[in-house]
Amino acid sequence: MNESKIILKKSLGEWFNMMTAGGYRVVGPVGQDGQIDFEPVTSPDAVRFDHVQTNNSGKWVMFPRYEAMMRFRLSGKEVQAGEIPPQAPPTVLFGAHPCDAASLATLNAVFTWDSSDAYFEPKLANTTIIGLSCTKGDSYCFCTSVGGGPGDTRGSDVLLTPLDGEKFLAEILTEKGKSVVGLAPQLFSAADGTSKEAALAKIPARFNHRDVTAKLPSLFPKEDVWKEQSLRCLGCGACAYVCPTCSCFDIQDERDRYTGVRIRCWDSCGFGLFTLHASNHNPRHKQSERWRQRVMHKFSYQPERLNVLGCVGCGRCSRSCPVDMNLGEHVAALAEIKV
Ligand code: SF4
Ligand code: SF4
Repeated sequence: MNESKIILKKSLGEWFNMMTAGGYRVVGPVGQDGQIDFEPVTSPDAVRFDHVQTNNSGKWVMFPRYEAMMRFRLSGKEVQAGEIPPQAPPTVLFGAHPCDAASLATLNAVFTWDSSDAYFEPKLANTTIIGLSCTKGDSYCFCTSVGGGPGDTRGSDVLLTPLDGEKFLAEILTEKGKSVVGLAPQLFSAADGTSKEAALAKIPARFNHRDVTAKLPSLFPKEDVWKEQSLRCLGCGACAYVCPTCSCFDIQDERDRYTGVRIRCWDSCGFGLFTLHASNHNPRHKQSERWRQRVMHKFSYQPERLNVLGCVGCGRCSRSCPVDMNLGEHVAALAEIKV
C-alpha cells in the first residue's frame, strides 16, 4: 500500500484533535530550541517541525526507561508476588524522522529474536508511526551511510514531507496509516504525482556499512585502534540513553523493608558496572574494550546475528557526548584502516 495525499500545515491541529478524540495518546517533538524531546503532546501548537533532531528518541514509547514488572510483599519467610501487566495505550508517535522510524526494525529484531518480549511487543503493535522527512541535517547525521535516507519510508505508517512551509506530502504506507488518515479524510486532498525529492536534505555518505561489517572481525584484536578511539570516553552512558536502537536493560528490585517492585531500566555497555561479575572479575575492565563492544555490537554482531544494523545514523550519541566522541567519524576512520 502506498497512496499519496496532501495535507495543509494549518489542518494538522484538527488532525491531532481527531486522533485524541479517537482514543490515541499523541507523542511528538515538543520543547524549546536545543531542548526538543519526544513527549506527550498536550497542544498541537506545541509540536515542532524546524529541528534537525530531538534530544531523546521516541523509543521510550515501546521501551520505557523505567518499567515496573512485578510487585512483591514479604511476610516472614513468605513472598507474595503479583505481575504488573504491560501497559500498551494506543499511541501515535508523530514526527519521527526516518532514522527513528527505521530504528524500530532493530528494536523489534532484538526483542523478538528468541521469544516475544511481553512488554515491548504490545506497545509496538499499538503504536502508529507518523514519520517526518528531513529537510535539513547537520554534521552529526549519517543515515545515508547505514542504508537510510532523509525521505526513507521504512518503519513509518504515514510519512509526511514538508513541501513549502504550508503543506505536506503524506505517503500512506500501511493499514495503520490508513486508519489514522481515515480519522479525518476531509483534511487530505489528491497529491497528483507531487514528488518529495526536491524538499529532502542532502546527507553525504561517509562509509559503506557493508564494508565496515566485513572488516570489523579483523579489527577486533587491534587494541591500539580501540584505545586511540576511546581515549576521551568517560563511560557516562549518555550515548546509549539517547540512542533509538540501544536495547540493553537491567532488572532490579527496589524495596523497602516489606514491599518492593521489580523494574527493568535502561543500561549501557559503556558503564564499567555493565559486565562486572559478582566475583569482581570484569571481562571488559577497560573503556577501550567497552567502546569496541559498542561498535562491534552495532556494526558486526547485530548485522551478522539478526540481519539488522544496530545504528541508524541519527547522530544523537555524538551530539550528546560530553567529550565530543563522534561515531560517524570514528566508523569512517575504521573503514579507512587497511587490514
Ligand atoms: S557519551 Fe561519550 S563519553 Fe559518554 S560513554 Fe558515550 S562515548 Fe563515552
Ligand atoms: S549509535 Fe548513535 S548514530 Fe547510531 S542510532 Fe544510536 S544514537 Fe544514533
